[in-house]
Amino acid sequence: MTFRAYAAGKVRSGRRRGGEADVAVERPGLARRLKAEISGDVWFDRFTRGRYATDASHYQIVPLGVVAPRTIEEAERAIELSRLEGVTVLPRGGGTSQSGQTVNESLVVDCSKYLNRILDLDVKRARCTVEPGIVLDDLNRALKPHGLWFPVDISTASRATIGGMAGNNSCGARSLRYGTMRDNVLSIDALLADGALAHFGAVGADLSQVPRNSPLRPLAEDLLKIGAREKDEVAARFPKVQRRVGGYNLDALVPGKNDINLAHILVGGEGTLAFSTRIELKLSPLLGRRTVGAVHFGSFYEAMNCAQHIVRLAPIGVELIDRTMIELAREIAMFRPTLEKFVRGEPDAVLLVEFGESDPEENLRRLRRLHDLIGDLGFGWDKSGAKWGGVVDVLSPELQAAITDVRTSGLNIMMSMKSEGKPVSFVEDCAVPLEHLADYTSRLTAIFEKHGTRGTWYAHAGSGCLHVRPVLNLRLEKDVHAMRAIAEEAFAMVREYKGSHSGEHGDGIVRSEFNEPMFGSRLARAFEEVKDRFDPDGLFNPGKVVRAPKFDDRSNFRYAPGYRGEPMTTQLDWSDYAGAGGGFQGAVEMCNNNGACRKMAGGVMCPSYRVTRDERDVTRGRANTLRLAVTGQLGPDALASDEMAQTLSLCVSCKACRRECPTGVDMARMKIEVLAARAAKKGFSLHDRLVGWLPRYAPLASRLAPLLNMRNGSGLLRRLSETLAGFTARRDLPEWRRDIYQDRADWTVGPSDDPRREVVLFGDTFNRYFERENLDDACKVLMAGGYRVQAPRAADGSSRPLCCGRTFLAVGAVAQARAEMERTLKALAPYVARGVPVVGLEPSCLFTFRDEMPALMTSDEARTLAGQAMLFEEFLAREKKEGRLDLPLGALDRRALLHGHCHQKSFGVMGGVESALKLIPRLAVETVESSCCGMAGSFGYKADTIDVSLAMGELSLLPAVRKAPDDALIVADGTSCRQQIHDGAGREALHVARVLAMSLAAPRQP
Ligand SMILES: Cc1cc2nc3c(=O)[nH]c(=O)nc-3n(C[C@H](O)[C@H](O)[C@H](O)COP(=O)(O)OP(=O)(O)OC[C@H]3O[C@@H](n4cnc5c(N)ncnc54)[C@H](O)[C@@H]3O)c2cc1C
Ligand code: SF4
Ligand code: SF4
Repeated sequence: MTFRAYAAGKVRSGRRRGGEADVAVERPGLARRLKAEISGDVWFDRFTRGRYATDASHYQIVPLGVVAPRTIEEAERAIELSRLEGVTVLPRGGGTSQSGQTVNESLVVDCSKYLNRILDLDVKRARCTVEPGIVLDDLNRALKPHGLWFPVDISTASRATIGGMAGNNSCGARSLRYGTMRDNVLSIDALLADGALAHFGAVGADLSQVPRNSPLRPLAEDLLKIGAREKDEVAARFPKVQRRVGGYNLDALVPGKNDINLAHILVGGEGTLAFSTRIELKLSPLLGRRTVGAVHFGSFYEAMNCAQHIVRLAPIGVELIDRTMIELAREIAMFRPTLEKFVRGEPDAVLLVEFGESDPEENLRRLRRLHDLIGDLGFGWDKSGAKWGGVVDVLSPELQAAITDVRTSGLNIMMSMKSEGKPVSFVEDCAVPLEHLADYTSRLTAIFEKHGTRGTWYAHAGSGCLHVRPVLNLRLEKDVHAMRAIAEEAFAMVREYKGSHSGEHGDGIVRSEFNEPMFGSRLARAFEEVKDRFDPDGLFNPGKVVRAPKFDDRSNFRYAPGYRGEPMTTQLDWSDYAGAGGGFQGAVEMCNNNGACRKMAGGVMCPSYRVTRDERDVTRGRANTLRLAVTGQLGPDALASDEMAQTLSLCVSCKACRRECPTGVDMARMKIEVLAARAAKKGFSLHDRLVGWLPRYAPLASRLAPLLNMRNGSGLLRRLSETLAGFTARRDLPEWRRDIYQDRADWTVGPSDDPRREVVLFGDTFNRYFERENLDDACKVLMAGGYRVQAPRAADGSSRPLCCGRTFLAVGAVAQARAEMERTLKALAPYVARGVPVVGLEPSCLFTFRDEMPALMTSDEARTLAGQAMLFEEFLAREKKEGRLDLPLGALDRRALLHGHCHQKSFGVMGGVESALKLIPRLAVETVESSCCGMAGSFGYKADTIDVSLAMGELSLLPAVRKAPDDALIVADGTSCRQQIHDGAGREALHVARVLAMSLAAPRQP
């Protein structure tokens, strides 16, 4: 053990890796006392501990237990109990640290779930006090109406907490203007290791503001003594760059230079000194209209060399995107148009220079000066080679926002490599003085090449802090050696330039080892003295900043020696990835813990987390649990276990993560494997059979409609269906009907014989048996457009309609789903071979052809069908664009509120339904910014998930529907969405086909 307290046996740690043991048994005292005294969540089971064993670094250390206190007082009590039981404490926010500072063998105190209130807001003085677990974006949403924001605008703003940001001394893209967290934290209330509470804030050199009897007084006196003693050493050894976040902020304790603020020693302390309970922040006025100059360079070196001149114009940000990033972004269809608007030619690098003064005219003036400067430096569009270049003005706020999106997504593409080698973060945020930036980047590139790897550069050129991640496979000893060699050579070079080896992401495990070579032995001892003065027994997050383990100790790695996938059989095709289960292991390993799935607004991902705020119920938590399970770290048969079933129970298979997760983690697809593994072991419940086998018994059920529908009218039958089959008694089930949709008798209807105007209308089970009007109206619209509507029958001659297999997949009945798909494929094959599009109404069914079918069936026919399957409205939008559609639509003088089904959003086809509705004269279409409706197939009908289902609906959709005027049309293509709107808001929603049919029936305008 490297930690003094550990050696002294005062504070004990648990096991280094997960192991099999349930720690509640190992630590019965702590677990029992926490559960008895804390009303918040207390978890000591190995599944939860596994979910908290990683942050966004490459390390994994399993904690002893996790507590999510409901109040600050509960947090204080949990820490007190931990101390009494001899267990170390790890404070945690969003867990997005990149350097391993948020993993330890401790009791994790998760502040993000409940400790997230704004305690005080003083608009006049532009300051607020918050609890540590509040997320930056949530805070800024609350501040916006007051014209204020907290301006440390880090990339992880959607999930990083103020406590974590203070812990890491985080810095944003506009640090040139706003500095780091240290520059924006006014005071911190903190719980000290001995249980005392203290207020850390601005003080005079004589500490006259700190009462003599305050527990802070002796500590503050000692800290100031250390500061005074180390004054010369700090002056000599601390890097002279703005972005220095390594080590403790000893410079904040040096008397004479600045006013002393004791809170600043806690900022950047990485949870090793004390537990922050209240943080007072300095706020800034919102930024107004800005200007951006996209400065193009023919040579990367020249771009780096120019940064030092550009910053003299006082921009608020100078961000780099290099050639690789531009090329990656150009490959993404949705970003290509943005690049076309601002990238000229084939630059080697572009610097995005942003001016944000309060006077818009001044921003324009500075942009003109940027043009002059670039010209004076010898660049021109008419030159070639290294001196080619110039400035493209970006004045529209929309384009400015779109460019920011491109930059972020370019990075995401880089991170989404499917190979075992991945870009690794360890030299990714060095900061050097700007006059050395060009030489530094050239030399580091050469170091990468020497070690057989490469990296892509991006981010904060104006602060001399560029991100770069060499690609390495940390499962291989040779790559781990290369990592050490690169780190040592890179940091030596940074020292030569008097730069900082950590300019943004902090010490953690990655950098702490290097604090001594970077700051020198004397300051390294002074850092230890600070730690010991605060925390003599090593209670808080030991082994970070001081007395750290070796950064390449593989036993602390996520991919530790011996890490490998267990042999397993999988049902779907995972061959794009490496590892066990035909690549399933590689697919779950794609999660790099960046935490984007923890966002609470924007997009859809992840609806269950937005309701429960529980790490178990977010894509990251699920992916980590799966990774631990498939690599045998959660015991035998973990995939089929009850804990795994619980882990996935609130995943509504919305497929939002497939699109919104930066690395494309597709949990909906993974869930099918888990359900299949569980079904293979435990069989299907009655509920599963009733849900999964619906398409098979629907023909009989429709004949028995009056009998089956009695369930909705009888309290007794409702309760029985809940007790016996798990369907909640609180909802009506969809009503069966006898007049179901029938495919036309001659199986080909429509006016035209032109083969280019043929279309297969796929009648899904839900619309066919419960809402036939949708299919009738779709048929009407297609025929009115002059299309010949085909309705193929099963090739075996049976009368049962075709099925996509969706309901079977929802319960893990993969063999049955495959059988349905094969049957359907046979029937559709002749049409598909002729190029006839297959059009469907229900998004979840139709996208089964596009998504799961090719993963289950690798035939050419399956791939061709996937390419030709489209939603009804996608088809109409395509035909309109191609000039083949002219519907005789009449005006609907109304508003339409459109809610997109999650799969429509996930497949990026909301444009189709919006375009289809816009065909209707005078219809004012407004799309609701909504996450999942919460119904999600059978999810909303289950007794044990109905509350979460309704809470998901209340996130955005149901309140928006309630606000809509009475005569507004509510449009929703998903059967489940319509049901949720009916049950939750008492409004009837319509499929787009019905709205178009209404318009067909309305009088045409002259
Ligand atoms: C893709 C990506 C992009 C990133 N971009 C940026 C960026 O632009 N700028 C930047 O600076 N960083 C960036 N980071 C790093 C990281 O997101 C930030 O450091 C962030 O501020 C961490 O916040 P968190 O809530 O996740 O903290 P956590 O990781 O949970 O914790 C961070 C540290 O703070 C401590 N801590 C947490 N709560 C408390 C408390 N109550 N009391 C005492 N200590 C506490 C923890 O122990 C830990 O040491 C990025 C990370 C990723 C994955
Ligand atoms: S699931 Fe995706 S978004 Fe969530 S942490 Fe993992 S990689 Fe990030
Ligand atoms: S499919 Fe939806 S609910 Fe499930 S993990 Fe992904 S985003 Fe979350």
